Amino acid sequence: MNVKTNKVIHIKFNKHVKFGNKWIELLGNGLLTLFRKNIHDNNLIITPSKKLKNGTKYTLILHYNSIQDISGNGVAYYCSSFKTAVKIDIINHATSGDIKKNSLLYKYIPKTVLSDQIISKAKTGTPMVTFGNGKGPKILIVAGVHGNELPAPAAAMKLINYLNGKTIKGTIYIIPFAIPYCTSHTHRYWNHTNPNRRANKTESPTNIIMKLAKRLHVDALGDFHLSMPGGVPGRDSALCTKIPILKSYKIAGYIAKNSGSKLIAYEKVGVKYPGALEDVCNLNGVPAVTCEVLALHGTLKKNRINKSCNQMFALLKYFNLI
Ligand SMILES: [Zn+2]
Repeated sequence: MNVKTNKVIHIKFNKHVKFGNKWIELLGNGLLTLFRKNIHDNNLIITPSKKLKNGTKYTLILHYNSIQDISGNGVAYYCSSFKTAVKIDIINHATSGDIKKNSLLYKYIPKTVLSDQIISKAKTGTPMVTFGNGKGPKILIVAGVHGNELPAPAAAMKLINYLNGKTIKGTIYIIPFAIPYCTSHTHRYWNHTNPNRRANKTESPTNIIMKLAKRLHVDALGDFHLSMPGGVPGRDSALCTKIPILKSYKIAGYIAKNSGSKLIAYEKVGVKYPGALEDVCNLNGVPAVTCEVLALHGTLKKNRINKSCNQMFALLKYFNLI
């Protein structure tokens, strides 16, 4: 498990071998993968022609008689599977933090090798996890822009662990902690400012994410938050603007309907929340929505994580990604 993508596969036999009918297959998510095959003494060496794909299940099949011993006795059918490591990039090195310090959040993060890898990488900056093959629709999910809002980062980590090993019909990028430092300290502000009013300021954490969304040509960005009781909007909701990108309204409508959230549509971008990641993305041609779950700052409950997760799922379903 978590095999590197430049992997060369060695199969060791208990005696010297030679090729028989050579019928050997390497399948990546069920599709044939090209490779070179060599034999040295009692070792079969499989060298994939290209780097293996990240986060993909591979199966190696040695068909009956594909390999023989020196006397010409064929091997029995043999099948073995392994999974390659998920792609995790650091998109911003200024934001590092130790997520484990937020013990409440950490309690709700699935305890897996992949979670450990992401949390470890967050100590060097903002991690982004990539699933899929780069074909089909591309979606970017963002959580933790406000470090005192815990349901969305927990939901993003739940989603990441759910998607690990699944076949994706497109590409899903997930940033579970936009500013790990803030999440580790349950801080709302970054450098004394609200990060969700700074996406239009060069090199702010949200500006870096907006530019990344543009560079990756994502079909949509979802930014996941919480809203306090009595606040604005103060309920489970999907927010969007109709101008300049009507698609953001359609996406938010779908998410609202399929996650039990209220659709809140503003007419024009940049009026109600100037500098918000959603608004600045829409102004830059990236359809974007903001989703909120009703919860208190710094708190975390299972049903709030599930609600945030359902909003994320609805975004993926809109694009038929899962
Ligand atoms: Zn927020």
